[in-house]
Amino acid sequence: MKPASHHLTHCRRCHAPIVWCLTSANGRRQPVNADPDASGNVAVMQGADGALYVRTVTVARPEIRPGEWRAMPHHATCPSPPPRRSSAPTPRATHGVRPVPWQR
Ligand SMILES: [Zn+2]
Repeated sequence: MKPASHHLTHCRRCHAPIVWCLTSANGRRQPVNADPDASGNVAVMQGADGALYVRTVTVARPEIRPGEWRAMPHHATCPSPPPRRSSAPTPRATHGVRPVPWQR
């Protein structure tokens, strides 16, 4: 399997052919190299809604299911990846989550 041609786009930074996928874990957009890559650590599939979904191939679940293909996340090979963001939650992300203490 390969991504359908209408999914193909190019990396803004290095102009390599990529496809945007949604992570099956949390629905985030992730760029994946357009060409299938046997050494990649993710599996991509086209969902029934036409979107591409990507999941990490783990030691526990190494098998590639029918309709999936193995691919490489573009961040792994991009020669000029975007600055890495801290995984720590930002104050803005947690704002409003904490309960407001009672005021007397
Ligand atoms: Zn790139």
